[in-house]
Amino acid sequence: MALEFRSVTKTFPTTSGGEMTAVSDVSFRVEKGEFVSVVGPSGCGKSTILSMTAGLYQPTRGEVLVSDQPVMGPNAHVGFMLQKDLLLPWRSIITNIEFGLEARGVSKADRRARAMEELEACHLAGFEHHYPYQLSGGMRQRAALARTLAIDPEIILLDEPFSALDAQTKLLLQNAFAKTISEAGKTTLLITHDLAEAVLMSDRILVLSERPGSVIAEIKIDLPHRDEPIKRRVLPEVSDYAAQLFKYLKLEEKAA
Ligand code: ADP
Ligand code: MG
Repeated sequence: MALEFRSVTKTFPTTSGGEMTAVSDVSFRVEKGEFVSVVGPSGCGKSTILSMTAGLYQPTRGEVLVSDQPVMGPNAHVGFMLQKDLLLPWRSIITNIEFGLEARGVSKADRRARAMEELEACHLAGFEHHYPYQLSGGMRQRAALARTLAIDPEIILLDEPFSALDAQTKLLLQNAFAKTISEAGKTTLLITHDLAEAVLMSDRILVLSERPGSVIAEIKIDLPHRDEPIKRRVLPEVSDYAAQLFKYLKLEEKAA
């Protein structure tokens, strides 16, 4: 399912009674099955873009379309996953994964079967009756992904899902997510601060300017192994792409 932003501007009211523009005139399209990352300075409106895709905020101007239909509010086409896993501590892993299905009125037997499928796809078999506190950070993120996939959304939104993890867990988890997401054929929008991560995981990267965020570059990543970042990372072109991102984000100038 394709996602499209058409000249989207979002302003928020300020406490002093004025308004602040978070993103300005943002246009892009993500094709079905494509994995697109969004990078840009802090506060440039990346999370705001995800919230509008999820239907949590309406654009002030312009349109957000999912399958050519304007997004009017939260809906089942879009699954949202945050940096914090938001697993409910009093529920077991399997009942956490079932949560969204329960809210949709799916029968007990059906939701257990669906949840078990996703639990296995996310390599958590054997941990269904554990509680979130018994799992490592990486496993909790996989459980959160399983919960997001359980409702079978066409579009998956990931807001810095790996940023709180140590380097090795991060690499393994990027790999696990990439595999699971491409096997499921999902359209994905990933927000990240990690430029290497964007290169390793994406078909395409959107670079945003400082606030108000607008798209200053779109970089197509022409490399194999999108479903296995751990293989992609040894390709020599990876650092060339990262250097391009560095340049667009003016990181050297800022360091000087
Ligand atoms: P990013 O994710 O790129 O760091 P955000 O999308 O979270 O940026 O925020 C962009 C700007 O919009 C920030 O200045 C933030 O304070 C502001 N903002 C985000 N959400 C709201 C809101 N609900 N009300 C007011 N201002 C907001
Ligand atoms: Mg953010």
